[in-house]
Amino acid sequence: MKRAFYIGRFQPFHNGHLTVIDRIIREADELIIGIGSAQLSHDLENPFTAGERVLMITRALEGLSKPYYVIPIEDIQRNSLWVAHIISMTPPFETIYTSNPLVIRLFREAGMPVFSPTLFERESHSGTSIRQRMRSGESWEHLVPPAVVKVISEIQGIDRIRDLDRNDNDPETVQTSGADHV
Ligand code: NAD
Repeated sequence: MKRAFYIGRFQPFHNGHLTVIDRIIREADELIIGIGSAQLSHDLENPFTAGERVLMITRALEGLSKPYYVIPIEDIQRNSLWVAHIISMTPPFETIYTSNPLVIRLFREAGMPVFSPTLFERESHSGTSIRQRMRSGESWEHLVPPAVVKVISEIQGIDRIRDLDRNDNDPETVQTSGADHV
């Protein structure tokens, strides 16, 4: 039994992430997907909750040919203990797939084998660029699986992101809406 671990913030889950999962399921018997920074939501870098990200991933992977587990994982203050933290939260795994330099280093220092899949169309397929498109009203739907478009619509995710953007850039909006609640 070869079980592989793949971690990301998935803000949101996009087609680049999907290409990594396609590779992992060709090479492993089971897949563990860690949803990193699970404690973060409702900010411009991390608009979606861990639960919403679980929904995006499980819906997008419906019908996947191999068993998989989706596990939200909160960040911890000490990088040197992070691998142990991950291991304590997941089923046992033998290999790690990531292109994140810090994640590569921490797992390699722990003596575990890390694979770094080629990035798929990185310029367009990055969380940063997709969130920017969501903010500015450009099209983003073609960059994520259709199931993710549906989840974001159900949770009114674009409204949330635009509200967060407005609050960040326009203090008057915050004051006005605050006064409305007095
Ligand atoms: P991410 O969602 O940006 O990316 C997830 C994975 O997909 C990464 O391996 C990334 O390289 C890959 N990817 C992204 N775009 C791709 C594309 N176009 N094609 C192919 N692959 C692509 O998430 P991330 O930032 O890598 O997530 C790491 C998580 O680990 C974060 O939540 C971070 O906080 C957490 N972490 C925590 C600690 C700690 O708590 N001390 C330490 C290290 C990492």
